[in-house]
Amino acid sequence: MKIGILGLQGCCVPHERKFAALGVDCCRVVFPEDLTGIDGLVMPGGESSTMLKAATPGLWSAVGDFAEARPIWGVCAGCILLARQVDNPSQQSLGLMSIDVRRNAYGSQNDSFIDDLELNLTAVVHIEAIFIRAPQIMQVDDDVKVLGSHGGHPVMVESRRHLATTFHPELHESMAVHEYFTGKVGRHSDG
Ligand code: GLN
Repeated sequence: MKIGILGLQGCCVPHERKFAALGVDCCRVVFPEDLTGIDGLVMPGGESSTMLKAATPGLWSAVGDFAEARPIWGVCAGCILLARQVDNPSQQSLGLMSIDVRRNAYGSQNDSFIDDLELNLTAVVHIEAIFIRAPQIMQVDDDVKVLGSHGGHPVMVESRRHLATTFHPELHESMAVHEYFTGKVGRHSDG
């Protein structure tokens, strides 16, 4: 199994360390052809507006094609890119999950926080979730399942193929979310 990390900008290395600890190969994805031969893609946290500006020609349409067969996990800025609709302010997104999100919904960088979170993965797990100038998921359609909530808002959601977290599991010691995504990628690789 090989997992690509979208390498336009943002928090890539901590994901690579987590997947290496799970024995999963990683590569960076910058150009459309980098998606060839990978089984899943992580769109990391960072600054979604910068990623939109930094995208190489044809990248988003290649990511859209990839998403039809393979899982994508969007973390924070990556969750914003996956969404159907984005506001505060509105910006382009890939519409790969039926969620609507509000950017920077908790306030400025200084309003970033850490809090306990219960997640319903293959088992119930408790983690300390790190929210860094995070978005809020405001609307979730029926094809999207909520795996964790904070303050009444979903913070971890999945569709049949894709996964989104508004917090940063790569910055916490727990392996649970990386294991969960690896499992999802494995199921789709089997066809
Ligand atoms: N505020 C960023 C954005 O709007 C997301 C922050 C993050 O990824 N930690 O894209």
